[in-house]
Amino acid sequence: MKGTLRVMTAGLLSVTGLCTALLFACAGGNAVQTFGRQPAAEATKPPEGALSGMVIAIDAGHGGYDGGAVGRVSGVPEKGLNLDVAQKLREILENQGARIVMTRTDDYALCDENPTIRKKLQDMQRRAAIITDGGAQMVLSIHMNEYAGRSQSGPQVFYREGCPAGRLLAGAVQEAMNEQLAPQRERAALGGDYYILTLGVPSVLVECGFLSNAKEEAKLLDEGYRERVAQAVAAGVLAWQALGQEKPEPLPAVDRSGEPHDET
Ligand SMILES: [Zn+2]
Repeated sequence: MKGTLRVMTAGLLSVTGLCTALLFACAGGNAVQTFGRQPAAEATKPPEGALSGMVIAIDAGHGGYDGGAVGRVSGVPEKGLNLDVAQKLREILENQGARIVMTRTDDYALCDENPTIRKKLQDMQRRAAIITDGGAQMVLSIHMNEYAGRSQSGPQVFYREGCPAGRLLAGAVQEAMNEQLAPQRERAALGGDYYILTLGVPSVLVECGFLSNAKEEAKLLDEGYRERVAQAVAAGVLAWQALGQEKPEPLPAVDRSGEPHDET
């Protein structure tokens, strides 16, 4: 999730090794790929299922100029892997009756080529607008992790710090991933201050695994494993949904209209 927008950085970096530096920032000298495409808010009529009536936003992290974390062995950026997991997850959840809102459906960033604000901030604001305008009741943001040390591994799910509903969802997704993917290291869901988690609905940021770990990188590059990842995330959503009335209220959205341009 290199470059994923964070509201603040205290604490988690040393624990999780996430989001190393490029907060709100552009990806340095990376070649510009595709800009200015209109974000796609897609919706189809879903079949009946456990998630009928639910609108779920799936956010494939990064895209276009912003590749995100890079596989240490392969050099493959996370953006394409994120999109693949997101699309697989979309199909699974649609088959359970959910209506899905995708923040992106191809390899592009959601910012203009020369925006008046930082590209990453504009990209995130547009993702937020798609999610909000689409009426999403839940956000699932898909990323791949990296860390300076090569030994770190395992899926890691984040929720908005202090949000009981998000924490419950994150716990369900984390548990399902631990059970179904049987990682060498089982992690517990963590609170984190990420922009995408602050839109006022139960939201999780899913780090599917570490591209900085050669063994896990090899798994994540395998399509069959990515299908299992998507299945596990969906299983967590279904487990959360099955909790029914026990679900607490989410926190209200955060007003970011006064976001400083140079926040890092
Ligand atoms: Zn990422």
